Amino acid sequence: MAGHPFEQFLEVFVPKVAGKSRQLNKAVWILETTGSADAADLKAELDAEVRLFYNDRETYKKLLQWDQDPSLKDPLLKRQLNILIRSFKQNMISPELLQEIVQKEAALAGVYANFRPQVDGQSISENEILEILKKENDPARRQKIWEASKQIGGLLAPQILELVRLRNRAAHEMGYTDFFQMQLELQEVDGAWLKKVFDELAHRSDAAYSQMIDEIEEKQSKSFNVSKKDLGPWAWTDPFGQEDPLDRTDLDSLVEGVDICAASRSFYQNMGLDVQPILHRSDMLERPGKNQHAFCINIDRENDVRTLNNVQSSIRWMETVLHELGHAVYDLGFDPKLPWLLREPPHTMPTEAMALMAGRQAYRYEPLRSLVGHSEKKEPLLKKADESLRRRQLIFSRWVLVVTFFESELYRDPEQDLNGLWWRAVEKYQKIRTPAGREGKNDWAAKYHIGLAPVYYFSYLLGEMFASVIEETLIKQTGSAGLNSEKAGEFLQKKLFYPGNRMAWSELVQHVAGQPLSPDAWISQFGEK
Ligand SMILES: [Zn+2]
Repeated sequence: MAGHPFEQFLEVFVPKVAGKSRQLNKAVWILETTGSADAADLKAELDAEVRLFYNDRETYKKLLQWDQDPSLKDPLLKRQLNILIRSFKQNMISPELLQEIVQKEAALAGVYANFRPQVDGQSISENEILEILKKENDPARRQKIWEASKQIGGLLAPQILELVRLRNRAAHEMGYTDFFQMQLELQEVDGAWLKKVFDELAHRSDAAYSQMIDEIEEKQSKSFNVSKKDLGPWAWTDPFGQEDPLDRTDLDSLVEGVDICAASRSFYQNMGLDVQPILHRSDMLERPGKNQHAFCINIDRENDVRTLNNVQSSIRWMETVLHELGHAVYDLGFDPKLPWLLREPPHTMPTEAMALMAGRQAYRYEPLRSLVGHSEKKEPLLKKADESLRRRQLIFSRWVLVVTFFESELYRDPEQDLNGLWWRAVEKYQKIRTPAGREGKNDWAAKYHIGLAPVYYFSYLLGEMFASVIEETLIKQTGSAGLNSEKAGEFLQKKLFYPGNRMAWSELVQHVAGQPLSPDAWISQFGEK
């Protein structure tokens, strides 16, 4: 038996949590690949059981005591203690309140999954909306479809607002000013730092973004034959203006006839990483009942890492497969000697950085050329893809700024005019004009993440920033920002993946790049005029 009481606690606690988590992850996998109702029940049961492990007030008290014990010195033990304290802390709110939040979230998720907006008495799916926004040239019809995409906001705003108040009540119980600040702190993110860094990024890339949006509006104006000031947010190819609206269908012809899985496999092979075992466990093709999006799941923190995709012949899916495999190679790269609790990334930010960096390669000229093959006909499209990467980065960064700013304000004061706040943020960051007739609407509530994945979006932009830092570091280490060398693979393996959660994410950035996270690298790649 080990020495310190905390070590004895770990010997009992960890195998129980590890076993139950593995079962939960398998239930998730069955649910997402089949849509089975039994799997959904099982998942909910196992979810509650895992949560119970982190719910015990007596254990939490003991953890806090051990945290004060000077005889506990081992850094790996201290890090495990830190992780446990943060996991327990979010479950220490009163059981009735926790129960109410869980129920309200489940109800909200149900509405999101089943709601279909109505257009002329017909219901219409999310994919149909996207298809129309991609192809329709009649501005009046575009406006109608865009407005339909916001219907869910009006329906759900009161429920989301109730949840926001409950989450804030939980945060107050725990001694935080609001839920946004609590979440950041539990994720080891300094709220003041985050605000400063995002303000800086917004400011420094403002001229570049303005110039780009001018070009985009120029093209939209011509396509739809309306003046710039009358374009409206429905001129974009998605309901939120979060994606690059230019050249979309055009670029897809690059991957025509390309085996996306095989291309991704050889991409990672060039880094010395064999992803065949991951692909073997993964679920790659569309099927009825299956989750329509994409994700990566680490089933057991050993070797069972899988990805779910719905591969179609598009550049978007090329990017997505590379992205999810990026998460997967990260999860398989932890130091195998690390204890179970530390075999995870310290935050979603660094694993997103790896995945986003891999996804970028689906647009960069050189790597894309080796992914899809080269021909005379492809040459101009390869160049177009490369140009689109900068646009994509600028556009997505602005969207993250909107969501993050809105969320911080939403939780600071949920009783303010939220729709006004939303459109002010859209105008400020995305520079998209508020269309007439949105007064009294709840357009902010149409975005899934606001209700159901709160205080998460910011990690994408920090991930992009870190991805740029890593690319800059790779140039110093290997002479190329590209990922297509064993040297690049070794560097990532050793510096980024191997430490797992033995240190906080900010220390990991320092460990990889020798400097703290800043927007400098991202700005010099994408944010200058
Ligand atoms: Zn991801």
